Amino acid sequence: MNILIINAGSSSLKYQLMNPETGEVSAKGLCERIGIDGRLNHKVGDNKVVKDIPMPTHSEAIAATLEILQDAEHGVIKSVAEIDAVGHRVLHGGMEFFDSCIIDDEVIAAIEKCIPLGPLHNPANLMGIRACQAVMPKTPQVAVFDTAFHMTMPPKAYRYAIPTEYYENDSIRRYGFHGTSHKYVAKRTAELVGKKEFKMVNCHLGNGSSMSAVKDGKCQDTTMGLTPLAGVPMGTRSGDIDAAVVQFICNKYGMSVDECLNMLNKKSGMLALSGVSSDFRDLEDGAKNGNEACALARDKFCYEVAKYVGAYAAALNGIDVLTFTAGVGENDCNVRAAVCEYLGFMGVKIDPELNSKRGKEMVISTPDSKVQVWVVPTNEELMIAQDTAELVNAAK
Ligand code: AMP
Repeated sequence: MNILIINAGSSSLKYQLMNPETGEVSAKGLCERIGIDGRLNHKVGDNKVVKDIPMPTHSEAIAATLEILQDAEHGVIKSVAEIDAVGHRVLHGGMEFFDSCIIDDEVIAAIEKCIPLGPLHNPANLMGIRACQAVMPKTPQVAVFDTAFHMTMPPKAYRYAIPTEYYENDSIRRYGFHGTSHKYVAKRTAELVGKKEFKMVNCHLGNGSSMSAVKDGKCQDTTMGLTPLAGVPMGTRSGDIDAAVVQFICNKYGMSVDECLNMLNKKSGMLALSGVSSDFRDLEDGAKNGNEACALARDKFCYEVAKYVGAYAAALNGIDVLTFTAGVGENDCNVRAAVCEYLGFMGVKIDPELNSKRGKEMVISTPDSKVQVWVVPTNEELMIAQDTAELVNAAK
């Protein structure tokens, strides 16, 4: 089976052609500068090709993608009929979507309804969906939402303590993001530990970071909120902050709320604290060379991650497994070690030798640790491909 995975942004479109059973990627690429001029970056194995192709809209980007996938020199399929289904990554499913689903007119209308919650991403995701429908009308399309995995949270986790009218009229509540990654890691961890019923905290630590509390495979709480700004501090996002800070800064510096939110999303977090970079590798180099601001940024990050593990351990009445994933979680052994050091009080013990490895599926806790600690590299594309294949096969 071949699943085409599409992640459409406002001026870009990423694609992968994947076998959902093996996870094998036969080709992948990126259409960029859509609406400006248009460039296709295509990769099959180690062979890369870059082509300037006019892409006034997402439709031309999809057409160019399908063409190169069938290209005599760079292609991997003979006809579009070899693509069994398309899985679209969609940012915000609001209160409309609790799971992935096959796209029809009703689904498109519901994704449109969620635009106020995801004003930058949902319109772009819809452009990708419509472009695919236009050029491959016979191929089933599936929407996979970044928020859906978190929809099992109970009201005490997802409601904000603000007047109810904002929840009832405007759907303002905690949604959470990175859901496809959290779902993949929860599912994979169940396979790795060999049971379905257990309590875990997953730390998706990358440029954007979020954590989730998961019981028996179902999300009970997560750190991001109505938007991805909430939770632990990130590469350039502040994470949790007293809302009155916004009022103070806007009043004092004559900033609009939008400008202030832009600062909190793009100029804060590790970048702001270190004054050097949002990249954890740069922070580590800086800290090693005696830069105290870099050391503080990393300390703050590990401290906040550990605090949430503690909070979620309380929320779940104890945890059996702690998992690390994404760029930092998979690769930065010093971040993992510092987070676990804070958690010694709850019997978390890691083996420094095991923890010194990076980027692969592995247990890093000692046999006598009260909590198993794992590194589980995430694979959002595989999750999208598997969800898509499952829905399409069930509908046959
Ligand atoms: P992501 O958003 O998941 O792609 O993660 C990006 C972050 O992962 C960046 O801050 C990188 O510094 C960090 N990262 C990637 N590779 C490594 C590595 N080998 N060691 C430490 N951090 C890494």
